[in-house]
Amino acid sequence: MAVRLIFPLVLALACASPVMAEPMSAGPWAAATQPADDNPSSIGSAAAGCLTGAQALPPDSAGLQTLRPQRNRAWSHPRTLDYLTKLGHDAQAQGLAPLLVGDLSQPRGGPMAFGHGSHQNGLDVDIWFRLPGKPLKAAELSSPVPVSMVKGRKVNPKTWGARQLKLLQLAAADPRVDRIFVNPAIKAAACKSSHGDWLAKLRPWWGHDEHFHVRLSCAEGDTNCQPQAAVPPGDGCGAELQSWLNKATILPDLGEKPNTRRPNLPAICSAILDQPGPREAANR
Ligand SMILES: [Zn+2]
Repeated sequence: MAVRLIFPLVLALACASPVMAEPMSAGPWAAATQPADDNPSSIGSAAAGCLTGAQALPPDSAGLQTLRPQRNRAWSHPRTLDYLTKLGHDAQAQGLAPLLVGDLSQPRGGPMAFGHGSHQNGLDVDIWFRLPGKPLKAAELSSPVPVSMVKGRKVNPKTWGARQLKLLQLAAADPRVDRIFVNPAIKAAACKSSHGDWLAKLRPWWGHDEHFHVRLSCAEGDTNCQPQAAVPPGDGCGAELQSWLNKATILPDLGEKPNTRRPNLPAICSAILDQPGPREAANR
């Protein structure tokens, strides 16, 4: 109980003074197996941040299946879980379920030992374009096979289709969505067969050919959360997209390499790493 009284004070102090930053390796963040026992809050940015009061995506969420549960990366801000819960129901209603949900965040957010440079403050989630049409078995969920939607510089008509476009539209429709990262070839396909404001949320980025990456905006009142600059005006289907399509490579094989980046995390994140987990807190 003492933790709940003391920790908001720490947060208040951090808000009152300029946020100091310190470089941190992924090691201690990847080792944390339980969330910090406090009110849910996203701290810092997606690429340099951490998370308190994280909750795990329930494995039996309607319309959703969690990939690679052994990674313990299905933790998030409740805002993201609420978004996913709604998306799962929408996907069921549209005949797209189950959706395959990739990584969210670690129990306390922070940098990861391998893979993503972001997913650090509980507002990022990867969702696969692959729509299996029936639930995957446990063994497949542990070691799923990704399916690329892109061939060369265009979408692959054998894998990309109207169902994938519908899924992207559903995912982007929620006002909590700040942006969605997709391969430039996928943005081009969406621009070709659709129109409207929702296209502005689709941001071209390397990879993202077998999954898309949803980033939500900061929760209201989450004063330690650092929002990203707004997406540029317009649908982004013109010169910006073309500049991506003109790049030498639009589909690099990044794989999941060890993360050697040491982001400058807000100083308050060090305290979050030291907070007790829910079980430890209950024993005090
Ligand atoms: Zn991602």
